[in-house]
Amino acid sequence: METDAAAVHGTGDSPAAPADWAPAHHGELLQSDPQRYAQMVKNITGFGVYLIDREGRIASWNQGAAKITGYTENEVVGQPYGKLFSKSVDGEGLPQRTLNHARENRHCRDEHRRQRHSGEAFYAQCAVDVLRNPDGEVSGYVEVFHDITEQKHREDVLLQRATRDALTGVANRGYFNEVASSEIARARRFAEPLSVIMLDIDHFKKINDTYGHDTGDRVITALARTCTETMRKIDVVGRLGGEEFAVLLPRANKEPALEIAQRLRRTVAELRVADSEGRQISFTVSGGVAALRPLTRDLHELLRNADSALYQAKREGRNQIRAWFD
Ligand code: GH3
Ligand code: MG
Ligand code: MG
Repeated sequence: METDAAAVHGTGDSPAAPADWAPAHHGELLQSDPQRYAQMVKNITGFGVYLIDREGRIASWNQGAAKITGYTENEVVGQPYGKLFSKSVDGEGLPQRTLNHARENRHCRDEHRRQRHSGEAFYAQCAVDVLRNPDGEVSGYVEVFHDITEQKHREDVLLQRATRDALTGVANRGYFNEVASSEIARARRFAEPLSVIMLDIDHFKKINDTYGHDTGDRVITALARTCTETMRKIDVVGRLGGEEFAVLLPRANKEPALEIAQRLRRTVAELRVADSEGRQISFTVSGGVAALRPLTRDLHELLRNADSALYQAKREGRNQIRAWFD
């Protein structure tokens, strides 16, 4: 215990930190003499630490900020701190909103995209604190930021893996179910229509047997792409398994859902997918449509209804769309 306490106070083997560096002094010095504080943090390289004046202009710069952004002190001091934001974010007024928020709440913590001197985008985690003079007037701000681009990238990859089908990139079964369930709850809450289309490639075993599994995969991918391109932005395409897909259509009742499914079916029938020998393969899909009704219990039942309609389409000759009726 004693050793720990000694280490905290800098009296152990490690060199003693200047008295100014004790956390309590940190905040005091920052408020009483920001420029001296800026001088002290000048050589820190792991974090960007700099002052912003009352008008939102950069008032100091440290090595960390230079290293992360690629801007030298001369290039940024006196410039609006919005210079560090990517154009689109700056366009939305984020720099000003950040300062407003910091003024009203003493500080503002955020993560957003910024832009390096080179034009390259990076992801910054940042904290802006407001500085006040002894009379309580805002005298400026201090921002501490660091580069979390790699961490964000790793998170994106993990999220992608957890929610997307590896072959086609559309939602995997688990993610489709998750999104569809919350869309159903939303549709119920706002009394809006919602439909689902189930699709299954016709005689797919024959495609695999005739052209090989790789070509089968290419056919599946082509169907996924066509679904995504045919649908509206708010629709969700999911691969439920093998060559079975589902499309969730929020705010669409049965009639528009049927029209969309028919259009998709026709587009698919006109598609050509090349196999490894350059042969052009055509294929068809069958589809079942079901709309959410007041008595539909849950997503499971909605999908089961669409599946019954799909199998009716199969029975009645394939390359067809059928709707499920109450
Ligand atoms: P139907 O018209 O009745 O749908 O006939 P079908 O031949 O398409 O029958 P079914 O839907 O049962 O066939 C699914 C086949 O899809 C069986 C399986 O070998 C194949 N399959 C499942 N997953 C994949 C995959 O990821 N890639 C490829 N190439 N084939 C797959
Ligand atoms: Mg199937
Ligand atoms: Mg099939």
